[in-house]
Amino acid sequence: LFNFSAGPAVLPVSVLEEAQADLLNWRGCGVSVMEMSHRGKEFTQIFNEAEADLRELLAIPENYRVLFLQAGATSQFSAVPLNLAPAGATVDHIVTGSWSKKAAEEAGKYAAVNIVAKGDNKSIPAREQWNLTPGAAYVHYCDNETIQGVEFRGAPDAGAATLVADMSSNFCSKPVDVAKYGLIYAGAQKNIGPAGVVVVIAREDLVGNARPETPAVLDYKVMEGSLYNTPPCWSIYVCGLVFKHMLAMGGLEAVQAANEAKAAVVYDAIAASSGFYASPVAPEARSMMNIPFTIPARPELEKDFVAEAAMRGMVQLKGHRSVGGMRASVYNSMPMEGVQQLATFMQEFASRPA
Ligand code: PLP
Repeated sequence: LFNFSAGPAVLPVSVLEEAQADLLNWRGCGVSVMEMSHRGKEFTQIFNEAEADLRELLAIPENYRVLFLQAGATSQFSAVPLNLAPAGATVDHIVTGSWSKKAAEEAGKYAAVNIVAKGDNKSIPAREQWNLTPGAAYVHYCDNETIQGVEFRGAPDAGAATLVADMSSNFCSKPVDVAKYGLIYAGAQKNIGPAGVVVVIAREDLVGNARPETPAVLDYKVMEGSLYNTPPCWSIYVCGLVFKHMLAMGGLEAVQAANEAKAAVVYDAIAASSGFYASPVAPEARSMMNIPFTIPARPELEKDFVAEAAMRGMVQLKGHRSVGGMRASVYNSMPMEGVQQLATFMQEFASRPA
């Protein structure tokens, strides 16, 4: 079965097998990772290896803190303004789809939000049209809009401002120049592990400035070391296995090459369909991870497409309820055979007599 879910999403089979083998008895210590103390030597080893492997994968500079927190990427919609924006500050937000819109709305509870640029959910507004606020506490954007399938190509130019990125749905899909960012956050459940953990990578000068009213579990300084309270031990452990898997694949350059090749198979199938399928997204903003597509001339066929694909073992291809159509999420762990099988089905479906 090929699972095209937007998340929680497919994980490497070898990782699932390893986790299964470890489930009852982690490396002979007699207990499961789910049962061990988060302050014991076994979990300390798991935790330290996970952090070290993520640092290696992303070449995270020494002056950045890595936190493994709970409450999902959504928690960071509040944590970022509470930690980075002093009371009365203005924060800049670029809105390119549903998730960046949500982040801006949540930040509005804590700061004056300036929408620097608002996209049409299909493209990224041209840099010349951005209306940056001089002295803003930071500029927030979403690197990959999971629902609309709009993805930035590298860090946007925010001038001297502190750049904050939600990378939930393309985290570890390609190398990233972490030094260009003040802070990156990403929910785990697309590319790196099970739901239940959000990774925060924060430059050290941005840690320790939380407003007094910040809940302890959202305060980066309190949460530094990720052991103020019980961390999501099992999720961190599985993420650690995925990091090792990606390092063994050859690191994020190799992961990116595989992802580009897979996404090309789906976009090529859309292009080769003589207009039967369409991508709503401008070519230069098309996501490598989430690929929405429609049947513009015969939208009534879209539900048949999704149902038939599922019968052939390609599941979760229905587009997000707010967008409609189809969406193929092709995260790191989607094998090439999955997208090839999808492309073959797309071609066959399109060539049926009307
Ligand atoms: N940001 C993006 C880009 C997402 O895709 C998601 C979830 O799909 C979120 C934020 C919210 O993540 P969570 O459900 O972990 O809070």
